[in-house]
Amino acid sequence: VRALSGAALLAAWEEGSARGPAGRAVALLAAATPRAERDALERLPLGARDGRLLELREATFGPTLRALASCPRCGERLEFALPADGIRAPHAADAETVHPLEHGGLRVRFRVPTGADLAAAGARGDPDEARRVLLRRCVVEAEREGEPVDPAALHPDEEAALAAAMAAADPQAEVLIALCCEGCGHAWETALDVAEFLWTEVGTEAQRLLYEVHALASAYGWREGDVLALSPARRRAYLEMVGA
Ligand SMILES: [Zn+2]
Repeated sequence: VRALSGAALLAAWEEGSARGPAGRAVALLAAATPRAERDALERLPLGARDGRLLELREATFGPTLRALASCPRCGERLEFALPADGIRAPHAADAETVHPLEHGGLRVRFRVPTGADLAAAGARGDPDEARRVLLRRCVVEAEREGEPVDPAALHPDEEAALAAAMAAADPQAEVLIALCCEGCGHAWETALDVAEFLWTEVGTEAQRLLYEVHALASAYGWREGDVLALSPARRRAYLEMVGA
């Protein structure tokens, strides 16, 4: 995975802005790996997808992720830095392999979710309906005491066991980070969505690049492509000259 150039970042930002979370992730991956087919990117298990996005993040913005959290007990704002290596985890090799789960009298065979599964689920506005869609897509077979059961109508403890088994089969898909409040000492875990994290950073960078294009195009009459083709150092030097 190579770093996104300014022009590629803006193109991915523009494409992704019109799409949901799964579509944004594909827009970023497609920009980083132009020869990969969209279909193949959509069918990546979430862990493989997020692993690649993490590589793209590291190549483009560096190896340290900075984020903010609020302590759930006292509300103190906490700024933390995470090394990309610290949240790297193994991921499922593919989304076709079928994994078994036995829980009480329930036997399930499932595969790990992909971006395409998330997109299909996210297309339903309602979170409960989205959950049902995801379960019906990823559960290949479910039976209780020999009778087939609807994967979207499992008991809560069965569904929790299935969610845990899915996470265990594709660890990179669910990054949990341990945080500790400096104010009150409370310790807790929070999930980090690598795709959303990177998308937010890309949005901030896109705004910065658009501003630089605006300032230099206004001052010199250069075209967008000309400004983006300048090295960051040269662009900064011109920006200083025009007082931007
Ligand atoms: Zn606290």
